Amino acid sequence: MLIAANWKMFKTRAETRAFCEAFTPPEGVEVVICPPFTSLDVAVEAGLTIFAQNVHWAEEGAYTGEISAAMLKELGVAGSLVGHSERRQLFGETDEGTARRAEHALAAGLRVIACVGETDSEREAGATESVLRRQLAPLPRDPRLVVAYEPAWAIGTGKTATPAIAQEAHAYIKSLIDAPVLYGGSVKPDNAAELLAQPDVDGALVGGASLDPDSFAAICRAALIS
Ligand code: PEP
Repeated sequence: MLIAANWKMFKTRAETRAFCEAFTPPEGVEVVICPPFTSLDVAVEAGLTIFAQNVHWAEEGAYTGEISAAMLKELGVAGSLVGHSERRQLFGETDEGTARRAEHALAAGLRVIACVGETDSEREAGATESVLRRQLAPLPRDPRLVVAYEPAWAIGTGKTATPAIAQEAHAYIKSLIDAPVLYGGSVKPDNAAELLAQPDVDGALVGGASLDPDSFAAICRAALIS
């Protein structure tokens, strides 16, 4: 089981230090934290496994606002998210761009969590499977690639996929790619265990509930009993 925290654009360096002092990952579950770029070194120094929230496909160049895999590795960062729905919806990132980011990061020796998932209107139109197929097709096949199924309608909305909906999507994803699949979308201490108990749910990617060390630790402990 892998439980990953996506802090998005939350936590200063001082707040990151305070979290790391208050949070002890339980034994027996792999825990990853994805802080903002400015807190990466602070979190690495605390001895946790740290991923970035995004990584560019070029080694270096005129890409204002972007960060390369080598820059992350120099800080001791172990991997990166790519293709989060907020990157796709708010910043226009594409399936192909996401795949290029993943390919370069893997080639540079980072691990990758690639996010996929349908929007509300895509689900209502019965397009969930075709969206997942389209998003997964260009991703590299690599043993260090993990997929996160994050239905956009469940992210930050408090609207969690039912365990049955998550299981159905995870099974479909696994029919297309041989990779562990995390569930993400309003995972909280009180719903984590039933989601993580599904046979094709291999962990969780947690946004809001990962910002508090006690609530994130409770979700990590739920992975131990699932
Ligand atoms: C996320 O941002 O990846 C996420 C799953 O957010 P939340 O848990 O807040 O829905």
